[in-house]
Amino acid sequence: MADKLETYRRKRRFDETPEPSGARSAGKAAGERAEPALSYLIQEHHARHLHYDFRLELDGTLKSWAIPKGPCLDPAVKRLAVHVEDHPLEYGTFEGEIPQGNYGAGTVIVWDRGTWEPDGGVAQARKAYEAGKLKFTLHGRKLKGGWALVRSRMRGSGDKEQWLLIKERDDEARPEANYDVLEQRPGSALENDAASRGRAAKGAKRSKPAMPAKPAPPPEAGEPRADRPDIVATRTSQSLRELAASPSIEGAAKARLPQTLKPQLATLVDEVPRAGEWSYEVKFDGYRVLARIDHGEPDQPVRIFTRSGLDWTEKFKRQADAFGALDLDTAWVDGEAVVLDERGVPSFQSLQNAFDANRPQDIVVFAFDLPYLNGYDLRNVPLVQRRALLRAVLEGAADGTLRFSADFALDPHSLLDSACEMALEGIVGKRIDSPYVSTRSGAWIKLRCRRRQEFVIGGYSEPSGSRTGFGALLLGV
Ligand code: MN
Repeated sequence: MADKLETYRRKRRFDETPEPSGARSAGKAAGERAEPALSYLIQEHHARHLHYDFRLELDGTLKSWAIPKGPCLDPAVKRLAVHVEDHPLEYGTFEGEIPQGNYGAGTVIVWDRGTWEPDGGVAQARKAYEAGKLKFTLHGRKLKGGWALVRSRMRGSGDKEQWLLIKERDDEARPEANYDVLEQRPGSALENDAASRGRAAKGAKRSKPAMPAKPAPPPEAGEPRADRPDIVATRTSQSLRELAASPSIEGAAKARLPQTLKPQLATLVDEVPRAGEWSYEVKFDGYRVLARIDHGEPDQPVRIFTRSGLDWTEKFKRQADAFGALDLDTAWVDGEAVVLDERGVPSFQSLQNAFDANRPQDIVVFAFDLPYLNGYDLRNVPLVQRRALLRAVLEGAADGTLRFSADFALDPHSLLDSACEMALEGIVGKRIDSPYVSTRSGAWIKLRCRRRQEFVIGGYSEPSGSRTGFGALLLGV
């Protein structure tokens, strides 16, 4: 029984988060419980992306799904429900703030609670859960009537199963166009219960209000809502989706989004190459960053990694939010994080200062490559086409935090001269027909500005090995 909560516990540091450790429910079997009714609840979780955690008690733990858009009372609407790890029963009353830096950081309220009744009883529910087709009745404060949770054949990231939550046709069903239960019934079910029992509702502390109640849209308004695009079907504009899947983009292959990605590195050269077609970009003086975006992971859809694979999402919070707001489902984006100094020139020192002063807003990520997009591996697509897709993706970027690293059609000699005059580090050349490879490659080259600097020879070290004369010169600036 304890094994069921292993994943739940592994993801959390219970000395930092107020969430329950599940120590009490771990050994309890369903038959030992005094209350025969099985609990049901939905938690509204304001993590990086708002989502609704749907939980059903079965055999001593809470079976759990993360629903990005929340439940809908319209039987014609299927809501994506990403299957996640079992949670302890005590989690059912958890409301509060999961501190920054912890798994699922953000505010949690219990949006609905009550009991659930599986069709055919508990024994049938076990089989139905395994088979991926649960039918049940909810007796919640907000959700009632018949519902179904059905495992789909779509695969999410990693080993996460994608299920669909669907309202059954009954008296509780309402058309989506004129009723949104999330807007009509906002707030904490725990708080409402406390208030109805005559207790002060102040007891349940929340640092952030629940979704504010918005006025109901007029019933005639039949047009689809634009504020919550369907994460499965319409999150990405159709044209962009078709572009990535288009047969004209040779080399694109359907693939799962890998958990890690090693960056392509450039080879330092002294001479501009004569052969091949090249495009040139500014060589930025900053940190290489690779952003992994996966909206199938509602608790942390964006993670930002350094060149060596360290997770630096916490240092790039604002940039992670900007990546998360892009109109796409899944992607790996490659780029360089820089801070522009007062002359508009990228400065490594300014970047260090921005980290030290904890001012992530100063950091700009210049994105230059797109090895994965929306379920496609684009690494074998020619660079020039990957970058065309990237440019289209970044057109939706809300603020200046994410920018497209432009390429220049100038001849590389004059481009390098201009770059050096601007005190930039140099330029990077890329073969326009090259694939993306996770290694140092001759298809990406860097040409450095040779900066002049006077040095003072402060001494030298003794020769060692086969060297004669001296080992190294000790220079001072
Ligand atoms: Mn959650």
